[in-house]
Amino acid sequence: MNNRDVLRLLPSVDQVLRKPEVAGLIESYARPVVTEALREVLQEARSRVLDGGFDQNAAASQVEKRILEALEERLKMKGLGMLKEAINGTGVVIHTNLGRAPVAESAVADLSRLAGRYINLEYNLQRGERGSRHDLVRDLLCSVTGAEDCIAVNNNAAAVLLTLSAMASGKEVIVSRGELVEIGGAFRVPEVMEQGGARIVEVGTTNKTYIRDYKKAIGENTALLLKVHTSNYRICGFTEAVSRAELAALGRECGIPVVEDLGSGVLVNLEEYGIADEPTVQDSIKSGIDVVTFSGDKLLGASQAGIIAGKAEYIKRIAKHPLARAVRVDRLTLAVLESTLRIYAEGERACERIPVLGMLTTPMSKLQQRAERLMELLTEIKPHAAISIDKEYSQVGGGSLPLERIETRVLVIQPRQMAVNELEKGLRMAKAPVIGRIARDKFLLDVRTVFDDQLPVLAEMLTNVLAGRDSS
Ligand SMILES: *Cc1c(COP(=O)(O)O)cnc(C)c1O
Repeated sequence: MNNRDVLRLLPSVDQVLRKPEVAGLIESYARPVVTEALREVLQEARSRVLDGGFDQNAAASQVEKRILEALEERLKMKGLGMLKEAINGTGVVIHTNLGRAPVAESAVADLSRLAGRYINLEYNLQRGERGSRHDLVRDLLCSVTGAEDCIAVNNNAAAVLLTLSAMASGKEVIVSRGELVEIGGAFRVPEVMEQGGARIVEVGTTNKTYIRDYKKAIGENTALLLKVHTSNYRICGFTEAVSRAELAALGRECGIPVVEDLGSGVLVNLEEYGIADEPTVQDSIKSGIDVVTFSGDKLLGASQAGIIAGKAEYIKRIAKHPLARAVRVDRLTLAVLESTLRIYAEGERACERIPVLGMLTTPMSKLQQRAERLMELLTEIKPHAAISIDKEYSQVGGGSLPLERIETRVLVIQPRQMAVNELEKGLRMAKAPVIGRIARDKFLLDVRTVFDDQLPVLAEMLTNVLAGRDSS
């Protein structure tokens, strides 16, 4: 057979699309996606024929089978790039790559009720006229933070940028050298300050900054004093930092507003659970800070948002700045945020109802039980892997509490017939992706961040991958 004869063996796009085997793929991936993938697969097959890399003696039925297999494989790879539920076995509670905070069930219910309908986003029902989206969460935010006024924007990076633009553009902002941090994903405090049009005046040293350093730097061009929570690192040892109360007092004395970027912004005191290193938003407001910014999807446990809370005169100015429109919060975010804030406002059971808080405060007995239950579901894997339950430590993540190590339980899996990195890859590419970590040539699954209702699927994926069955 010459190349032309072989090319004739290749089915057409239409022929393949009509195959009953393809109907399922069209249902899962949508027709245009399947068509596109099929064109790519056929194009590659044609190139292979022309390169002479194609089995010249293949029968038409074999060729078609191979095309179908290649199509399925290609769609599977495309499918990996679509949004899907992931099982977080890393133990990192606020995992930025895995979407940070899973939100409370009541917030999910509110979101699904509102997302597909018109809502009173910017319509004042009382007066029958245009309203402000900021009014929807203002009262709730004020009541949970203790601030006079609040607005929500796109995220905390935007909150900082907007605050500095509105309060310090063309002026000087004084900040300690020990607080010029970079948060993951290239959010660098000094760069954001420059974007906000402020000139940075660095004071103190990396490890020590005193109140007198700020005092000395204050001049007629000083617009504000900035404090940044060093979320993702700590300076230990020979150190000195100015407390927020001291800085707030200095600001008051000199008539200069004090802004704090709190980063995570936790609303409940987690000290009784052994997490003592994260200041609450209420503490910051109470200590006299004029404007506080924090994230909606870190320890607060809601959707991606940035909250700006503080004195009414500053919040008004911030809300009126032209940039506020560019970084405004969208309606789906607002629905989740409002619903989550209501849990805090109701006061009780926040730790039970808000998933990130629940995960951080899960008692050891419950983690042990969850690990044991998972073990029980893994009866079939004995021939393929050695498994045990071990003590380990989880991280909070999301740039919060870098030093905090919370005792946890992990499933330790040592595959017998495959390399541990093959297991890791198989799990993350499985139909229900499972993300864990490799340590000391074993695969670890931290059960702290696994939801109870995910255990059966997790066990199924693990069994399939270890047994070499296709689980995608
Ligand atoms: C996380 C963080 C930010 C960025 O917040 P996003 O909500 O991710 O934009 C800014 N500052 C600090 C101190 C942080 O910890």
